[in-house]
Amino acid sequence: MTDTTAARDVKHMKWWGWGVDGVGFHWEDKPAFAPFVLNAVGLDLHAAQPVAEPSFEDMTVAKPKGTAAFRKSLAGIVGEENVTVDDKLRVIHTYGKSMRDLVRIRANAVARYPDVVVYPGSEDEVRAVVELAAAQGAVVIPFGGGSNIAGSLEPPAAEKRVIVSLDLGRLNKVLDVDEESGLARIQAGALGPDLEAQLNARGWTIGHFPDSFTHSTIGGWVATRSSGMQSDKYGDIADIARGLRVVRPGGVLVLRPAPSASNGPSVREMILGSEGRLGVITEVTAQVHRLPEKRVIQAYFFPTWEDGVAALQEIAESDASPSITRISDARETGFSLATSKESHGIAKFVTGTALPWVMRRKGWDLERICLSFIGFEGGPAHVARQKKLVDAIVKRHGGMGVGTGPGVLYDQKKFDTPYLRDFLLDRGAAGDVSEMAAPWSRLQPIYRATVDAANAAYASLGTKGWIMCHLSHSYHSGACLYFTFSFVFGDDPIAEYDTVKRAIQQAFVDNGGTISHHHGVGVEHAPWLAEDISPEGVAVMRGLFAAVDPDGVFNPNKIVVD
Ligand SMILES: Cc1cc2nc3c(=O)[nH]c(=O)nc-3n(C[C@H](O)[C@H](O)[C@H](O)COP(=O)(O)OP(=O)(O)OC[C@H]3O[C@@H](n4cnc5c(N)ncnc54)[C@H](O)[C@@H]3O)c2cc1C
Repeated sequence: MTDTTAARDVKHMKWWGWGVDGVGFHWEDKPAFAPFVLNAVGLDLHAAQPVAEPSFEDMTVAKPKGTAAFRKSLAGIVGEENVTVDDKLRVIHTYGKSMRDLVRIRANAVARYPDVVVYPGSEDEVRAVVELAAAQGAVVIPFGGGSNIAGSLEPPAAEKRVIVSLDLGRLNKVLDVDEESGLARIQAGALGPDLEAQLNARGWTIGHFPDSFTHSTIGGWVATRSSGMQSDKYGDIADIARGLRVVRPGGVLVLRPAPSASNGPSVREMILGSEGRLGVITEVTAQVHRLPEKRVIQAYFFPTWEDGVAALQEIAESDASPSITRISDARETGFSLATSKESHGIAKFVTGTALPWVMRRKGWDLERICLSFIGFEGGPAHVARQKKLVDAIVKRHGGMGVGTGPGVLYDQKKFDTPYLRDFLLDRGAAGDVSEMAAPWSRLQPIYRATVDAANAAYASLGTKGWIMCHLSHSYHSGACLYFTFSFVFGDDPIAEYDTVKRAIQQAFVDNGGTISHHHGVGVEHAPWLAEDISPEGVAVMRGLFAAVDPDGVFNPNKIVVD
């Protein structure tokens, strides 16, 4: 049995926050950031005293349940060095990276840890571990990158059985590329950068780039129905994942990679979003694409949010097929400008040019302008034609193109922004997100209702709060709205967070939105599931889990409470 320095090469994030040790968010090189934060949530960064980095010495981790004989049997399957009861590794495997997770970890308020972490090195080992766990009455929680923010990994507080965290991290290879079909067999534990590098080396890309790309796995993407920022071209993971292998007690569920199939209710769709409840995904056959010759992200400004959203709807319904369509509301546009570096940021781009003058001449109110990014990929002629189509639509809606400069910067810093949440937590402030999808006709009502609901929640707490939004992931009939909210905590961070988060989620379902477009359900969004898919829908799901996993071996209490 090993400690954190084990020889196995599985990368983990910090036990207390996002990303890897030594990397964090810095504001000193972003002159507009401190005034922005002061105005948004009343936090004075110059005066704030950040708390020290959490020390693992201060954590009290309950002793693991389970017998030495059970652990010995596990070691007999995967090897001694791939079974661990190390406290830090158990903590890392307890939660994802939601606000609630991070607050509880920092407060040493963890109700239940997995008892043992196992790193299988093959599908056969996964099978043997699952058989052993099922036979011994243990619980199995599959673990990918641990990046979920819906409480999808959290062991039930009252779970009395032994809990095995099954970390797929050693299964990280692209096994094969069917070049004729554009299909790649990929092991489920491959992290985004690892699988993309293996595909790129052969001239292919998966085209799936969630903001959590660096620390999430393809198995996790499938299990949470993830969506990446280039979904407009490549599709969501639900489109990309064509074939699956899923280990369950008694056998392996095998779904061959058909482009489409009429073979009854889709078992593939049942596995998608199942959050570990239906078994362990060991392999995904994914659609892959030739690396594009050209990739461009064009920036546009619109005078108002309403103009920009109308333009994006028209783009979605037109002959144009961009890879990214995204527009920030005025508040998020302000945030983007404030997080730019002085020397070469978006702010510099905007203020260092004649843009504000041009905008004012057009009669625009600079407080209401909205920044949009539209991505194009393919051969040069295709990219040029797409851009021409989009430019015309943007113009019809009063927008203006400002070139590719801001798009390059956006592309470079997109994986850095997640570090901001730990920065805020260090200074006593919350920063979190909620997102949903809805038909185009519902988007503006949902937008307004959500902003109003968050502001009412802040008022009820007597605090100054912030909420901003962007639209991304456009479809023919609708799109995803992604809200980011922040406020300074009072005495009870979790209760205050709940007040705001609940208000936002309720505004979604009350106004015709789903509970989530791509973060999943877990325990975080489960309370609103019946309002989203109807009580009958929940009954179908409950029946599925009960029939397929009657003993509740796999990740109990997620999506629906057992
Ligand atoms: C800063 C940040 C940005 C994010 N951005 C995005 C985004 O842009 N798009 C997006 O879709 N999501 C995003 N997320 C959410 C998260 O990254 C996704 O939910 C991701 O798909 C989780 O993958 P993972 O490998 O980390 O899974 P984990 O967090 O390890 O697990 C998530 C769930 O999947 C199950 N699971 C994992 N692997 C398997 C497997 N092999 N077999 C069966 N079940 C399994 C687990 O049991 C758990 O229920 C973001 C999260 C953060 C913190």
